[in-house]
Amino acid sequence: MKIPKSHPRYTSLMLREKLVKGWREGIVVPEGLIAHGRGEAFDYVLGETTSAPALVAERAAAAFLLRARRPVISVNGNVAALAPRQVVRFAKTVSAGIEVNLFHRTETRMRRIVRTLRAAGATHVLGLHPNARIPRLESRRALSSREGIFGADVVVVPLEDGDRTEALVRMGKTVISVDLNPLSRTSQRATIPVVDELTRALPNMERFARDLRSDPDEIGRLMKSYRKSENMKALFAFLDWRLRGLREGPKVVRGTPRRPRRIRSPGD
Ligand code: ATP
Repeated sequence: MKIPKSHPRYTSLMLREKLVKGWREGIVVPEGLIAHGRGEAFDYVLGETTSAPALVAERAAAAFLLRARRPVISVNGNVAALAPRQVVRFAKTVSAGIEVNLFHRTETRMRRIVRTLRAAGATHVLGLHPNARIPRLESRRALSSREGIFGADVVVVPLEDGDRTEALVRMGKTVISVDLNPLSRTSQRATIPVVDELTRALPNMERFARDLRSDPDEIGRLMKSYRKSENMKALFAFLDWRLRGLREGPKVVRGTPRRPRRIRSPGD
């Protein structure tokens, strides 16, 4: 379908088109389309822009990845359909491995996703030949590679489910999630939850990593100062401000203003 650039929902519709194409090519499963819808709903409320707290989490995530000994980015069908080039570029910037991990795993689908990532520039993609299992995780999602996710110290899990996030955290890994739903078990369990849309979050984290690469002091400072609870508190405050804006009038409905307007309390 040809979508004119002037369409007010152009970006969102283009992402849908990518997912539908991915579904036609056997990369995305129907359940993935539904999961995307859940993300879209949250993005609507968030204003379809990266919030300030998400930027803070993205910068911290970049710092942890740059300091990691064995960082790995986990890729599923939706991620491969939406952002294969961004994944590859980001992995190169932070010297991370890439491993495909699927909830609905079939060998054909695995091979198609690996092919997509290779076409996007990846030289080495793990996942086709798992040689380990993530402990206490049912199903084929537990399959992993010792040289990849199983042996990693920092793992990026975009659009993940809560069980696997929890299992990876239990293994002692630093888990960076990308999930628009701040209430998901993934966001709740991850070490660094990035509550942002995937195709915005990946380039943001890549840009931060590029900037930070030559600044070890700042990397150390970010790793020390990041607090998940404070970051999530700030995110919920942002959401609260968005919802109040929606309730009180159209002025603050879309986008993120430079400085949040002060909302009058009933006692003012
Ligand atoms: P959990 O098990 O963590 O509670 P869930 O059951 O919602 O989460 P999934 O069904 O696997 O897990 O959904 C994946 C998550 O990814 C959803 O919470 C959704 O908000 C989020 N999501 C979907 N598309 C995107 C996207 N493009 N960018 C960021 N997040 C997204």
